[in-house]
Formats: sequence, C-alpha cells, structure tokens
Amino acid sequence: MRLVKTVLLVLAHLLWVVLLTVLTQVGGVIHLLCIPAYGFLRLRYQQRLFRYLGQTLCFLFAYMVVVVFVLPPLAGRYGRVQLPINGTLLRPQNLMTAILCRHYVRRELRNAALEVAVFLQREHQGATLLYLDAQHPFGNKWPLLPHLSHSDGRKLDLALLWKRKADHTPVTETPSVIGYGVFVDPRPQDVDVARSCAQQGYWQYGFMERIIPQAHKSEYVLDEERTAAMVRLFCQHKGVRRVLIEPHLKSRLGLSAFDNLRHAGCHAVRHDDHIHVEGRD
Ligand SMILES: [Zn+2]
Repeated sequence: MRLVKTVLLVLAHLLWVVLLTVLTQVGGVIHLLCIPAYGFLRLRYQQRLFRYLGQTLCFLFAYMVVVVFVLPPLAGRYGRVQLPINGTLLRPQNLMTAILCRHYVRRELRNAALEVAVFLQREHQGATLLYLDAQHPFGNKWPLLPHLSHSDGRKLDLALLWKRKADHTPVTETPSVIGYGVFVDPRPQDVDVARSCAQQGYWQYGFMERIIPQAHKSEYVLDEERTAAMVRLFCQHKGVRRVLIEPHLKSRLGLSAFDNLRHAGCHAVRHDDHIHVEGRD
C-alpha cells in the first residue's frame, strides 16, 4: 500500500512537471526545487486542505521570485530579453502572457517592436501596441505551444488595432480575451482564404473561433488606419524579415506592394486577429 502511494505521488509530481514545463518552460524545474518544502509542509500539517494550500502558496511564491528576479538577468546572458509589461508604447494584451513567461524575444526584435511603437505613436497619438505570444526565455528549438514556429526568440505576435463600433473611438483592447480567435471577416468582395482552407480539410485554420467567446465581436470594428500603419512600419523595418497576415487584410489595408507581407498558408492558422512578425537572423 505504501509503495502504491509513493508511486502515485511520483506520478502526480511528474504530471505537474510536464504541465508546468509546457506552459511556462521554467515552472517544472521550480516545482521540483519546491519538493523538499512540500515534504516539510506534509509533516507540519495533517489536514489535507492546509497542506495543499501551503504547497500551492509555496510554489506560487517561488515561481514569482524566479520570474521577477532570476529569469530576466539569466535569460539576458543567452541574448533573450523580456518585452515591456506595463509600457505605454508596447504591452501584453493579457498579463498572463508575461506571468507564463511567453514574452521573451531576442534583443533585436524587442528594439524593432519598440521603434515601430514609437513611429506609430508619432503618426497616431495614443496608439499602443498589444503583443500576444512571443517565446519562452531559453532555447532556440523550444516551441512555444501551440505555435510550433515560435522557437527561437525571433517571432512575435501582435494584436490588430480596433475601434469601438458605437462611436468609432480607437481603443487599446481587443474583442478576444486572449487576443486570438475573434477574426475580421472577409468582405463579400474579398478572397475568403479561410473558407478555402477549411474546404481543403485544414480544420485547424479557423479553429480558434470555435473555442474563444465571440460575445464582444459585434462591439468592435477593425481600426484600418492604425492597423495598416502598424503593419507597414513592421514591413519597412530593417530588422524584420517578414510579416504574416491574412490575404484579404493585405489588400483591404492597401499593403499589396510589400513582398515581405505574406500568407502563412493553410497548414497554419488565420491571421486576421493578429499579425506574426519575424525578426532577421
Ligand atoms: Zn506567430
């Protein structure tokens, strides 16, 4: 019986390690480092509720200390820097992106994003860039799930810019809670690549729309002017290799002249909720 209990405990820890590693890259290691403290709490508290509460608080405290004080300088040694967390030029669309350590990029890409943000604010006062997923702090072949290409710190997703539909006021928010999954629908005269990809069997192409709440979609319209300016500035930046966007947006925003503004292909996902920016090697 004791052996079974030990095996189950080890399996539970392993499951947590895998889950936390997939989500945050560093959470699994922090969980392993906390195991002696969990053991102490198990001896200290007989009641399960207090034990689990203590272990959870212990992990959260250790995680926050590592994420705030240890990771930034350590990742910097490997050429990876974090994107701003509460800047007025550039900030995460959702704070969980930073809490889960999904906001690290190469220094050159951070500089490019900040320069674009500065130029955008010169053209459109008050415009703030909202970034989505970037990459974890370490490794050049560590995919940031579910983005298989976000593996080397050279890739960054940014939300499109929106207006409130009621009064056409520019806003610094998105209709989707996570920035992904609420798409700009092609107009009747546009090429509907999403439909064509779905017809070819690429079920994942528009999958996010099925799992992300669409309740606020009708409250927003695309801010074509500011989104076009943002995409143009990224395409023109010397530190940017290419930008991925949905074909109907490329023509709708008047950006057909840019060769480095591309379609990701049906094997990827829709890019009319966000753009994908790739820095140079
Ligand atoms: Zn991307």
